[in-house]
Amino acid sequence: MEKIYDPKCFRASDHIPIKEYFEEYSKVCDTSNKKCKSKKKKCSSGTKILQEMGINLSAREFREMENICSLDKLTIADEPSTMPANVPEKIQTKTKLDYVYPVKSSGRKLNVVKCKQILEKMYRPYSISYGQKNSGEKMRFAYEIEALGTNTLSQVADTIVCRANIGLYKEVPNTDVDLGALMNAKEHYPSQSIFIDGIFYNDTRSPNAIDYSVKIIEWAHEKNIGKFKSEIMERTVLNSLTPRLGYPYVYMHQGNCEHIFTFSDARLIQVSDCLSSKKYPRIVSLSRATNIMCYICGVSHSQWIIMKCSKFPQEKVFLCTACCNSYLFVDGEKVVDFNLYPYYDEELMTRHLNGTDVEGLVAAVL
Ligand SMILES: [Zn+2]
Ligand SMILES: [Zn+2]
Repeated sequence: MEKIYDPKCFRASDHIPIKEYFEEYSKVCDTSNKKCKSKKKKCSSGTKILQEMGINLSAREFREMENICSLDKLTIADEPSTMPANVPEKIQTKTKLDYVYPVKSSGRKLNVVKCKQILEKMYRPYSISYGQKNSGEKMRFAYEIEALGTNTLSQVADTIVCRANIGLYKEVPNTDVDLGALMNAKEHYPSQSIFIDGIFYNDTRSPNAIDYSVKIIEWAHEKNIGKFKSEIMERTVLNSLTPRLGYPYVYMHQGNCEHIFTFSDARLIQVSDCLSSKKYPRIVSLSRATNIMCYICGVSHSQWIIMKCSKFPQEKVFLCTACCNSYLFVDGEKVVDFNLYPYYDEELMTRHLNGTDVEGLVAAVL
């Protein structure tokens, strides 16, 4: 694939063998950590400080000075005498990591020097007509996913949120149709695949899932594009990959919904990161949600997609329910021939992310 999409064009890094690279790097970090700790011990005796400041004091004189300058001696007028000297054990503050990311109840605590963290940038799917110049939409950033090296590709794929997974884009006869049956498209069509460096990683967890890669591998072989392989997504951990940072890879689901994604960063986990393993993978940043407004009124959010309708100059138009019913239906019958599909907007997707009842929301919107 790199013969066609040159890594230099994307300013991509070389292939990084994540496991081997970070095992070496964590050894270096471990050694420097130990050195720092032993340095601190020496500093606590005060000799290092005295040397740095160029002061000639005995150890006894230094301790005396430490006592005199102690922060405990700093008091203010009217200070209550019953101030607690130490913070009680059970108190929880926002700065405590356990409070922000409760570790005990959810998963193991991650080792700061040993665990790898990988960032992936996902882009929105966009339609493109091959053969027509400038017919495609622009590629836009959708969100960033943070995952651990020990996470499988299927766990990462399950974190991906796309409106195509919310509801089925199935043609309906009118706007009175019950959309509840079309919700949770992922349950109807669970197939998904991730393409990284010539290998299709397919999701085989559901018996209803189909292998997207078979036809593509055959086609690529016939066209002499390359010899691609397929593997199982749920058995592949991120640690085992050797991706290029910044190079585009593809996630496919719901037939032809394709998302470009890149590995944007790989590093050892820090104290300031979430240290609870069960919180990964997770979405850490989202792009601004943009809803498509109704083509006619421009006030309400779009709820329907109209295709191939002679009453509009465009092939595809987005409408709200009220405008769709008043302009294209008389007594429940279509006034002209067109294809009608439900449209699931950004609000639905955000609610889906937050775990809100999406079916209930659809009923409320319509
Ligand atoms: Zn999608
Ligand atoms: Zn409208």
